[in-house]
Amino acid sequence: MPELAEVETVRKALEEEALGKRIVSIDVLRKKNILTGAEKLCLGLVGATFMKFDRLGKHLIFHFSNGRVLLCHLRMEGKYFLDRVGDPYRKQDLVGFNFQDGSRLTYNDVRKFGTFELYSEDDYFQKSSLSKLGKEPFALTKEELYGKLQRSSRPIKEAIMDQTIIAGLGNIYADEVLFAARINPRTPAKEISLEQADSILKESVRILYQAIALGGSTIKSYHPKEGVSGMMQNRLHAYGRKNRDCERCGTPMHTIFINGRSSTYCPKCQKQVGRPFVIAVCGPIHSGKSTVAKYLESKGYPRFDADAAVKTLYEEKAVRKQMKLTLGNKAVYKGAINVPYISKQLSDKKKKAEWLGYLYPLVKEKAEEFILSHKEEEHVVLEVPLLYGSGLEILTDMVILVDASASIRENRIKEEGKDAERQMKLNKGYPLAYAKANATYFLRNDGDLKTLKSRIDELPLL
Ligand SMILES: [Zn+2]
Repeated sequence: MPELAEVETVRKALEEEALGKRIVSIDVLRKKNILTGAEKLCLGLVGATFMKFDRLGKHLIFHFSNGRVLLCHLRMEGKYFLDRVGDPYRKQDLVGFNFQDGSRLTYNDVRKFGTFELYSEDDYFQKSSLSKLGKEPFALTKEELYGKLQRSSRPIKEAIMDQTIIAGLGNIYADEVLFAARINPRTPAKEISLEQADSILKESVRILYQAIALGGSTIKSYHPKEGVSGMMQNRLHAYGRKNRDCERCGTPMHTIFINGRSSTYCPKCQKQVGRPFVIAVCGPIHSGKSTVAKYLESKGYPRFDADAAVKTLYEEKAVRKQMKLTLGNKAVYKGAINVPYISKQLSDKKKKAEWLGYLYPLVKEKAEEFILSHKEEEHVVLEVPLLYGSGLEILTDMVILVDASASIRENRIKEEGKDAERQMKLNKGYPLAYAKANATYFLRNDGDLKTLKSRIDELPLL
């Protein structure tokens, strides 16, 4: 997605290509993207000349000779091409501005999210979303930023991507700025100190200037202009470097999802102030994840057991009430949790989603309480069998995935005298491929306990 630096690259390119050109006609190929109306756009701009190309945050602002102002937001993948009038349109072309000199500026957008809004010089700022934009890092003072952050308990990564707080930082440069400033992305914004706010601003300015100088980043399919690629993607130290070693300290970079966006950071260089390192252990049934978590506990890492937390929650009145509402009255039978009935109810996908949507945030709360109650510790371990999708991933700095072959796991269940077939069936949907792709370390537990322990001892933990 184009951010400030990429939009600035587009702005410069357009200035070179379209400044002083007069529009003789406009082809609107997709009316939906012209928020202020396609007819108004044509009426307002035919006969007008491009006079000035501005930018604020990620918004392009085109000023015309007749006092009209056109705002363009590229959103995910919007881009411009310079064609000739009459050239056949590409499949994803949305608008064509035909110029008097026979050239045509074409707006192309694969994702079709880009927008145009037409205003006049007098009202474009007030009437458009620009009025809600915060200042760009170049204009913001540390006191102003600090003041705004003080009022928010959202994670700092989310706060600095909020365009009303600071304009221009998107996912890529927010990761880069926090890495450079050595700030953990999940730090609550109100816990950011004045010095840290200063550091965020200084690094934002430095990184954005560097990115602008290098023509922005060309990530995935985004090109600022046909045939032109930015070079900044080669200078990124955090964004997109999941599980690769930190360039400063060698620790594997960790990725968590904040507000639905991937956030990559170094758990060591960007350690969260006032919190221990959080190592999660996950894995399918009888993979040995408990053995791993308990072994770490024996080595002095306080352990949180998500399954035990669920059991405690099941004793709470409010939880039981909700359980009956979601899964039916029989979920609690004679004062006890009716496990067979509940497992049966949970085979209904919709019910399961509803129930977990209620339960997981409560487990996350318990895990957060546990982490906060161990502020003085260097590390803690979260044993969460189904980590991914539970919402607890955001709390972690490192993830160990434990697995063993299906036959070995089945034998372990049998040894405990349990119904192996049923247990294995219940665990069939375990998202192992996803976990493997995302965990920091993968521990194969096909051997004996001694082998497993020596493998854990070899892990370069935080
Ligand atoms: Zn590091």
